[in-house]
Parts: sequence; C-alpha cells; structure tokens
Amino acid sequence: MTQHKIIIGNIVSPIDDHQANYFRQGCMLLELEKNSNVYLIKEHFNLNELKQKMREYKNCELLDFSGKLIIPSFCDTHFHWVQDDVREMNKDNLLDWLKNHTWPNEAKFADEQYTKNKSVEFAKSLIKAGTLTGAVYGSIHQHSVDYALESFPGDFIAGNVLMTMNSPDDLLQKQQEAIELVSKLSSKYKNRYAVTPRFAITTHPEVMTETAKLAHASDSFIQTHLCETTQEIEVVMDIYSKLPGFEKVKTYTEVYEKCGLLGPKSIFGHGIHLTDDELIMLKSSSSSIAHCPSSNAPVARRGLGSGLFDLDVINKHNISWSLASDIGAGPYLSMIDVMNSFVHQHQKAGRSYVSWVMALYRSTYAGERICGNHQRRGKLEVGKEANFLVIDTERIESSWDVERALKNCFEVNEDLRFTLDQKVSAVFWQGNKVS
Ligand SMILES: [Zn+2]
Repeated sequence: MTQHKIIIGNIVSPIDDHQANYFRQGCMLLELEKNSNVYLIKEHFNLNELKQKMREYKNCELLDFSGKLIIPSFCDTHFHWVQDDVREMNKDNLLDWLKNHTWPNEAKFADEQYTKNKSVEFAKSLIKAGTLTGAVYGSIHQHSVDYALESFPGDFIAGNVLMTMNSPDDLLQKQQEAIELVSKLSSKYKNRYAVTPRFAITTHPEVMTETAKLAHASDSFIQTHLCETTQEIEVVMDIYSKLPGFEKVKTYTEVYEKCGLLGPKSIFGHGIHLTDDELIMLKSSSSSIAHCPSSNAPVARRGLGSGLFDLDVINKHNISWSLASDIGAGPYLSMIDVMNSFVHQHQKAGRSYVSWVMALYRSTYAGERICGNHQRRGKLEVGKEANFLVIDTERIESSWDVERALKNCFEVNEDLRFTLDQKVSAVFWQGNKVS
C-alpha cells in the first residue's frame, strides 16, 4: 500500500443545497491514515503544482481521471434490498403491489442459502451504482440483515422488517418473537442496525413501542414508512381508531409518536401527505425524511404514483431530508436516476430553485448526516475519507459552472434510465478502488 495517492479530475464537493466546491482539472492528495487501510483527503492543489507534489511525496500513486467528474459516493437512505426482483415491473398502487408482488417475493428469503446468494449479487449492484452507504430494509428474516451487513460494500445500516399483523401467513411473526429478534440484533449490531417496523399497518403498537425502547438502549436507528399514499393513511387511521389507547389519535405520525418511534436517529420513508401538526412533530423530534422521488413518480414512469413530496413545506419547517431510491417501488438503484427524477418532477411543478447541485448534496452529504457519518463522509474535503466515484462525461467546458457541468453529466431521457450505472466508471471506498 502506498502512503500517498494523487487523484486528478473535475472534483465536485457538495456544500449545501445551493453551492458546491468545484475544482476544475484539480488534484486531490490522499494519505493513509495511521494504522489502517483508510485513505483520507490531505489537500487539494492545482494541476500546475503536480510535478512539485510528485517530488515531495515520493512513491505516490498517480490516478489520472482528467476530463472526468469526481463526486462523493452515494448515500441511499431508504431501499429494500430484498425487492430487487420486483423493481422494474409495472406497478399499480402501493397496497396492491405489496400484497400481490412484493410480499410473495420477500417470502423467498426464508431460505438462508438463497439469501446469501442474493446478497452477493446485490453487493455487485451497489458497487455498480456507486452507492456505498445508507439505510436498507431486509425481509422479516434475521439472515437478510446478517448477509447484507456481511456482503455489501461500504458501510450500511440495516434492519429486518417487523410484520406481526395484517400480513400473509408466510411473513407473519409472533409479537414476542419479533421483539426478541430485535433485542438480539440491536445488541449485536448497535448503530449499524435499524429497528424497522414495516409500517403501522403491519406492526402491532406494542411491538413498535418495545422495539423503539431497544433501539434507544442500543444506539440503533429506527426506520419505517410514513404517509406515502392517502389510501394507506386511511387504512392506518381505521385500524388505530379501534385500538385501545389510540382512539383519539388524529394523525399517522401521532401513532408513531405514541410508540416512541420519533427521534434524531429515525428515518421516515416518503412523508408525502403530512399535516402541519405532523410536520411540527417531525421537526421537534429531529426526525428525518427519506424522499424517494422515483418511487413516488407516476405509474407511467415506473413509480407507484403516490404523489409529489411537498418540498416547499418541508423546507419551511426545516426538516432534515435526503434522497433515496426505495427500490423495489423505485425502479432503479442508481442515485443518478433518483437525481433525475427529483430535478425533473420538482422543476415541472414550478420549483425553479431545485437544481443538480441540490440533487447531489441530498444524495451524498445530507444522507451521511442522517446516518451520523458526516464528520468523515459525504464531501471531498480535507480530513474526510476518500469515498468517491469517477463519472464518465462526454465533455465539460471550461466556461461551465458546476450546475451546468452536473446537468450535462447526469441528465438523461426517460428511455435511457436503465443505462445510468454505466456512467460510474470507477468506485473508491476509503481511497481503495473497489470497481
Ligand atoms: Zn420503502
């Protein structure tokens, strides 16, 4: 292992929704961290200083990606790795799709060898997509978490879904068994584990309450779905209005709040149809939302047609959020596809402030922040881990600003969505090439 590496390319490091540092034909010096195989970013410098730096850091490895784009690796804060086989199909609506396609597919993960093989296959998809961090849902089975954490590249948070009611027989867990499994896995994996009630419809409130306590005790995360479709909200309110202790509950978020699921380590998928009261609850508890635009997109664009996330209102309430693929409801694992869907849908809805700079920030640093790793990840700044992707691009003109460069590099037509992984030509985790 060489002590130093120098990377050359058009380096983009997100700052916030509106700005990114852009080092056009810039260089990044990486240095091996003490007693580890992790490379950290030591400094940025201009190409005309290259010769001098090569003399200074003898035996350093030079990786020349001139003309290509270099961005942080992606962080996907909501996806179901056990739904890889149902993601590209045409879908109808959330509840029917779950019942008719998703759940029968997830039942196959009862077989441990099948799960192991699938996890190895899925790890390759993650590398191809350039997604190396984030939060993932497994099936109800313990080994869907064990093999995900063992096989996947990078560093993920994973959880087994909890399904103790209104579920098919082959995915139905007994309440006590579900709690015991969470107890075992949360103490085993700590903050790499997420307590994962599938959603309020399938998980008893007693189970949500007990497992939320276990999450807090083990410093684990909590992830679930919230207010994805209006039909789902009606079903939740119908079920809970009849449950003792929940008769007076007015909103879906309040159900979760009563069970102790809200908090700074909680990630709620979707949050499309939220009332003001719910937004206040999410904000005051420092909970986060995973916004999944390609999953929520119209059926014609291979989503579930759940509606468009109200970005204006979410930002007004200053709620933490990041982008996510939500495969299998989202059709593609690629965060570049998610970014396309995000920019396209929100700009079409008149939100002219939505940009590619914002899309990149929300696909990298904002997710790392939610996963608690932003001190070391999500930006290509001095002191951070060298987790980055090399993106192929036809051309980047010197007069272009970062927004124009990102748009030119990432924007594709609907019929070319499936090709987006091909844009990722190299993947580095902690400075080491993984693809
Ligand atoms: Zn989901």
